[in-house]
Amino acid sequence: MNAPVQSSNLTDAFALPRLRMVEKLKDFYRIADERALEAMNRVPRHLFVPEAIQSQAYKDNALPISAGQTISQPYIVARMTELLELKGKERVLEVGSGSGYQTAVLALVARKVFSVERIPELAANAKSLLLWLGFRNISFKTADGTEGWESYAPFDAVLVAAGGPEIPKPLVDQLIVGGKMVIPIGSDQKSQILVRVTRTETGFMKEDCGPCAFVPLIGEHGWGENKK
Ligand code: SAH
Repeated sequence: MNAPVQSSNLTDAFALPRLRMVEKLKDFYRIADERALEAMNRVPRHLFVPEAIQSQAYKDNALPISAGQTISQPYIVARMTELLELKGKERVLEVGSGSGYQTAVLALVARKVFSVERIPELAANAKSLLLWLGFRNISFKTADGTEGWESYAPFDAVLVAAGGPEIPKPLVDQLIVGGKMVIPIGSDQKSQILVRVTRTETGFMKEDCGPCAFVPLIGEHGWGENKK
């Protein structure tokens, strides 16, 4: 597995709740990607949530972080990671770093992660935590991620952690042929369908992977700036 995580799973106080979380992902949610499960058993999720709610970090739900955003539910992190079918050599674009938790999971299962976040405070926090944890295979940018990250394109995979009204064209254009993107798409801002897009020679193929609820994707190829 790539990149180190400093804390030892066997000695930190949250080792047991973390293991229980992973067991539930496997037994109840039927996540079968062993590499994704192993990564989630290594990343100290409690460090990615506000200190006051650390004790809830391994529960089966999304939690508030700062700037009105959320850290995704563990199941959603596992599912999106699994849908990308990463084997370890990929360069992955992530849109919406948020807490940086999904970024850490991706950085353990892929070779390199390019993570874009539009809110400067979140981008700065995620970057300092991930560097402190020992990750050296992540690049960070504060920008509108619906434009992708042209200078590092093409990517083997793209993960969008916020829900948009449609598939942003620049993100499809920045995928290699055969590359996969997972993105929540919905016509209202509160609920979406998780969609997996596979880039083909002539365009792309789309699969629906079930309902989900994400914070809005705000940007040029997402929702408008002042919509709530
Ligand atoms: N996987 C993250 C989810 C964070 S919530 C986690 O578990 O912590 C989604 C994030 O997407 C928010 O931080 C929000 O600010 C960000 N976001 C929304 N629109 C964006 C855009 N156009 N570009 C980059 N980030 C965006």
